[in-house]
Amino acid sequence: MTTYTVPETGLTSLTAAELAQKIHSREVTSREVVQAHLDRIAETDGEINAFLHVGAEAALAAADEVDRSLDAGEAPASPLAGVPLALKDVIVTTDAPTTGASKILEGWMSPYDATVTRKLREAGIPILGKTNLDEMAMGSSTENSAYGPTRNPYDLERTPGGSGGGSAAALAAGQSPLAIGTDTGGSIRQPAALTNTVGVKPTYGTVSRYGFLAAASSLEQAGPTARTVLDAALLHEIIAGHDQFDATTVQRELPSVVEAAREGASGDLKGVKVGVVKQLNRDEGFQPGVLSSYRAALDQLAEQGAEIVEVDCPHFDDALAAYYLIMPCEVSSNLARLDGMRYGLRVGDDGTRSADEVMALTRAAGFGPEVKRRIILGTYALSVGYYDAYYLQAQRVRTLIAQDFEKAFEQVDVLVTPTTPTTAFKLGEKVADPVEMYNFDLCTLPLNLAGLCGMSVPAGFAEDTGLPVGLQIMAPAFADDRLYRVGAAYEAGRN
Ligand code: GLN
Repeated sequence: MTTYTVPETGLTSLTAAELAQKIHSREVTSREVVQAHLDRIAETDGEINAFLHVGAEAALAAADEVDRSLDAGEAPASPLAGVPLALKDVIVTTDAPTTGASKILEGWMSPYDATVTRKLREAGIPILGKTNLDEMAMGSSTENSAYGPTRNPYDLERTPGGSGGGSAAALAAGQSPLAIGTDTGGSIRQPAALTNTVGVKPTYGTVSRYGFLAAASSLEQAGPTARTVLDAALLHEIIAGHDQFDATTVQRELPSVVEAAREGASGDLKGVKVGVVKQLNRDEGFQPGVLSSYRAALDQLAEQGAEIVEVDCPHFDDALAAYYLIMPCEVSSNLARLDGMRYGLRVGDDGTRSADEVMALTRAAGFGPEVKRRIILGTYALSVGYYDAYYLQAQRVRTLIAQDFEKAFEQVDVLVTPTTPTTAFKLGEKVADPVEMYNFDLCTLPLNLAGLCGMSVPAGFAEDTGLPVGLQIMAPAFADDRLYRVGAAYEAGRN
């Protein structure tokens, strides 16, 4: 079986923290580091398809700028200055196309940088390119990309997860030490679980959404992904914070996640209460190999001093139904702007057709089946007569889920579940049945509905399939530091 996992030696084998140390001490240049990753992409991406666009020139130019400043004796612009990154292609950039893996934006270039992009640039982080995803971040396997699926570096016949499969695969294949994802219902955590990488969905309102191709504005958040908890923490602190261009970002001091990750590295979990969610701690619907890795993780946490407590979150059983109503409702509204007039593709504009006809032709040609399905479903659920029965009801369920979390966090510091019910499935296995695909999000959706934060951290390989398993850790809003403390401790305990 062909695998394309991280090389054992050389610059592409190192973590972001290690690379930063070498670059800042001038043992290597940022250009050498960037070039090594570009070479790795060239060597492997024909098969993996993690990147929709590779920006070699721009990345090398950014690296040269870092090298010049360090050679001049200036302090690094950030702890990750000079370390390259892969950016999910739903975040806009002025120097590369942004497609959302959709045909509808073909030919469009953003006239401005997203706040996340700007912060990365200011931190001296060279952007290697834009990574593949399910069209407009809708899906769980990257198979909804208009540019072909991404393949899992651990098994090329399988999905790396989705929607952020490109970013996760890039990390797992040693194409990039860092990546940015977005998580509406699990698109950071779920691919992390399937590729043996770390992914964090920060608390809603702590990372700017300015410059996203918005799908579901009340649910989504950009977050860091990497191969270690510390690397994710270093990146987290660079992208988080209030933004005058996004009124949903909060003006409050955020806890230091880097400090928490460093503390956690001691491996000591004494005094930490870890809650096991009863509704997601069952045999039914879970692969035996995932459950045994998960239960081994619980044993390990207990050995490290954590107290394990079972907590009841009865409304989690309704999270899937609520999410798959609210999410499409927001999609139907957000994607209305992609009308063939303002951005990208325009079909049938030959002077004989009305604007309405051109819009209809453009949207029919530009959107793939899953995006259309959600627009139709959401429009229906928001229409007069159905709004109360569907949308409003789903919002009520959302409140109940948030209350379940509140009660749970009165008893424990963090909650844990398996990140996904199974390890990576085969490409093609679930495409014919959208509900099957939705079911895969069982464990990751609840926290987006409540606006909280979560992490997926590698939990070894399943004994039955030999593929990566993720442990999901969830914490209250604005307590992202707890994810890093527990995640780093668990990671240290495994090594
Ligand atoms: N799989 C979920 C969906 O299809 C989540 C996607 C995401 O987080 N962007 O909506």
